[in-house]
Amino acid sequence: MASVREPGYFDEGALVSVLTTQPLDRTLDYRAPEGGCVEGAFVQVPLGPRQVMGVVWGPGRGDFDISRVRPVTRVLNVAPMREEMREFLTRAAAYTLTPMAAMLRLATRAPGLTDPPSMRKIYRLGDAEPARMTDARTRVLDVLASHGGAGFTLKELCDEAGTSSSVVKGLVQAGAVREEAAPRDVAFPRLDSHRPGKALTEDQQSAADRIAEGVRTERYGTTLLRGVTGSGKTEVYLEAVAQCLRKGRQALVLLPEIALTAEFLNRVEQRFGARPAEWHHGVTMTERRRIWKMVGQGGAELVVGARSALFLPFRDLGLIVIDEEHDGSYKQEDGVLYNARDMSVLRASLCGAQVVLASATPSLESWANAEAGKYARVDLESRFGDSLLPEMKAIDMRKERLETGRWVSPTLRAQVEERLANGEQSLLFINRRGYAPVTLCRACGEQINCEHCDAAMVEHRFLKRLVCHQCGETRPMPDKCPSCEAEGRLAPIGPGVERLTEEAQAVFPDARIATLSSDLFSSARALKERIETIAAGGADLIIGTQLVAKGHNFPLLTLVGVIDADLGLQGSDLRAAERTFQLMRQVSGRAGRADRPGTALLQTHQPDHPVIRAILTGNEETFWQAEAETRRAMEMPPYGRLAGLVLSSTDAAEAMRIGTELARHDGAIRAIGAQVFGPAPAPIARIRGRHRVRLLVKAPKGAPVQDAIARWLGPLALPKDFRLSVDIDPQSF
Ligand code: ADP
Ligand code: ZN
Repeated sequence: MASVREPGYFDEGALVSVLTTQPLDRTLDYRAPEGGCVEGAFVQVPLGPRQVMGVVWGPGRGDFDISRVRPVTRVLNVAPMREEMREFLTRAAAYTLTPMAAMLRLATRAPGLTDPPSMRKIYRLGDAEPARMTDARTRVLDVLASHGGAGFTLKELCDEAGTSSSVVKGLVQAGAVREEAAPRDVAFPRLDSHRPGKALTEDQQSAADRIAEGVRTERYGTTLLRGVTGSGKTEVYLEAVAQCLRKGRQALVLLPEIALTAEFLNRVEQRFGARPAEWHHGVTMTERRRIWKMVGQGGAELVVGARSALFLPFRDLGLIVIDEEHDGSYKQEDGVLYNARDMSVLRASLCGAQVVLASATPSLESWANAEAGKYARVDLESRFGDSLLPEMKAIDMRKERLETGRWVSPTLRAQVEERLANGEQSLLFINRRGYAPVTLCRACGEQINCEHCDAAMVEHRFLKRLVCHQCGETRPMPDKCPSCEAEGRLAPIGPGVERLTEEAQAVFPDARIATLSSDLFSSARALKERIETIAAGGADLIIGTQLVAKGHNFPLLTLVGVIDADLGLQGSDLRAAERTFQLMRQVSGRAGRADRPGTALLQTHQPDHPVIRAILTGNEETFWQAEAETRRAMEMPPYGRLAGLVLSSTDAAEAMRIGTELARHDGAIRAIGAQVFGPAPAPIARIRGRHRVRLLVKAPKGAPVQDAIARWLGPLALPKDFRLSVDIDPQSF
C-alpha cells in the first residue's frame, strides 16, 4: 500500500480528496496517479461519464467504498495551487457562505485550463490584401486591426466579428490573416522599478514613505489613502508598487471601471517603461489564459484589473491597491456575493501583503476602520500644483422658473453659456440612463412595465427601444399604448440622460454635445476613445451618467451642473446619504484642474438637507462623524452586522410562506443576540418572472453571523424551483 512520503506529497495509489468545480457539497476521493501528485495539484478526474477539473485538496477522506475509488486521470501542466490560496478560498467561502466549488470556479476563470495549449491556434492580422472583400471579411479584419494584442482564438474572432469560421479560413488562405500557435509561456515585459518617478511634493513623499515602509516589512497591513481628486494618490501608490516590485514581489491594482484601465496602463508604462498585465472581461480568453499562467509563475509582476483579478493565483503577492475603494462595483452582486475590498484584506492578511485603499470619499466602513486603528490612514490635503477645489453652490429649484419637460434651470443655463463663450467645457450630470425613466399612456394612464419584472420599461430613444434595466429585456418602442391601444398618447415622464441631451441641443444649439452613458457604447474601447476625444477638447458640453464620475480627467472642464442632487436621497436605503455624498463629491471633483478653477452647481429642492449642506461645505470629517453617529445609534453597519436573504420562486405565495416559516424558527439567530426582520417583498419584488421575498438578519458587531445563519438554514429543504441567496454585508437594503 502506498504511503504518504512527506506532507503534501502523495505517492501513486494514495487516497487523495479532490475539490472540483462541480456543484457538489463535498470533495471526492481518488487515487493519486502514476508518478504521484502534490497537494494543490490541478488534476483531471473522472466524474460519472465525464472528465472534470479539480484540485488535490488533501489526503482522501476514505469515507466511501475504497474499492470503487478511481484514479486521477492526469495532473495538469500548471503550477499547483498554493496553500495560501487554498486557505484564502476556504475562508472566503466561509465568510460569504458560498460553496467551495463556486469559489474554485472563481479562482479558475481562465477557460481552457484543461485543454492542451498546443491544440490552440490564434489569429492575427496578416500582410496581404485579399483580392475580394465582403462585409464579413471586412468585419474580421476590423476586429483584428482594432485589438492586436494576444490575438484571437477562432471562436473569439468569429463571435466578435459575427461570422463563420469559413470566412476566417478564407482570409488565412488569402494571406490577410495569420494563423499561429497560441502563445503559451510568454512572460510579460519586466517593469523597471528603479526608474525615477515624478518628483513628489512633501506631502506626497511622506505618504509614499509610510506606505512603502509597510511594503518593506512584507507583513500584512492596510492603509486608507484619502485625498481629493487630483491630489496625487495615484502617484503615491505607484511608489508603493515600485517598492513592492523591487522586493521581487507581485502587485495588484484594482480599478472600478474598465474604461479607466486604459488611462492607467499608460501611466504605468510611463512610470515603469512597460505595460502590466490587464485583467477584465474585455480581455481575450487567450490573453487571460496567459495571465493566469504567468501570474502563477511570476512572469507577470503587476496586474491591473477588475475585482475578479483578486482570485488569480499570484506566486508572491506583496501589495493590493483598491482605487476608488468606496465604489459599489467592488461588490459582486450575482453568483458569489463578495466585496473585493474586504476579500483583499483577507487575502493580504494570509500572504503578508499590504493593502492600499485609495479614495477621495472613503466608505464609512473604511473610515471607521481607520478611526478604530485597524487601518492606518494617510491624507493628502491639497490638489497637486495650483489647482483649486471647485467652488460648490446650490441652485434652489423652488425659486427657479422652468417650463415642463425642461430640467436645466436659468441659473445653470447662464453658467453654461458663459463657459461656451470662454471655450471651456461644462458637464451636466444626471444619474439615469435612457430617455425617461417612465413611459405613460395619456389615454388610459397605464405605465409600460416589463412583463417579467416589477419595473418600468425605460425608453432608450437613441436605440428606438424600450429596455428593462432589471432583466435587460428590450422591445421596439411601440407607437400605440400596449394596454388601450390609443395611438400617439405615450408620454415620457421624467428626465434621463438622452432627454437631457435633447434639451441641451435645443437650449445650446451651437455647442458640440457629447453624451456619455454606458449603454451608448458597444465596447470599452469605443468608450475610451470617446473619452479621449472629449478630454482633448472634442466637445463643449458633456452630458453624462455615473460613468463620468469615475476618475476620468477632463482638463478643460470648469463647470459641473448636477441636474437632480436629491435623486439619491429618496428611498429608504441606509447608505443613501453616504452614496449621495460620495457621488456628488466625485462628480464635482471633475471640475477645475491645473490653472482653471472649477465650479459645481447642485440643483436641489432641499438646499437645507443635512447631506446637501455637507456636500456644499465640503466638511467631510463632520459628515462622517454625523453619519457614524446615526449608524451607531441604530447598531447598523459598520457598528452592527447585516445579512440579506432573498428567496425567489415563480410562486409568490409559497415563497412568502417559506419565508414566514424561516422567520418563525429563528432560534439559531436569536442565540447570538441577532434578529430576523421580514419576510417582505424585495424592493424589486419580481425579476425575470421570479418573485422575490426578503429577510434581513441584523446582528451585533462581532457576532458569529455566518455560523448562526448556517445553523438556521441547515434544516431548510427548498422545493424545486426555489432559490435562496445569502448576502453577507449587503450594499443596499
Ligand atoms: P489622484 O489619483 O489623487 O486623482 P493623480 O495621481 O492622478 O491624483 O494626480 C493628478 C494629476 O497631477 C496627474 O496628472 C498627475 O500626473 C499630476 N501629479 C500629481 N502629483 C505630481 C507630482 N508630484 N509631479 C508631477 N505631476 C503630478
Ligand atoms: Zn425585466
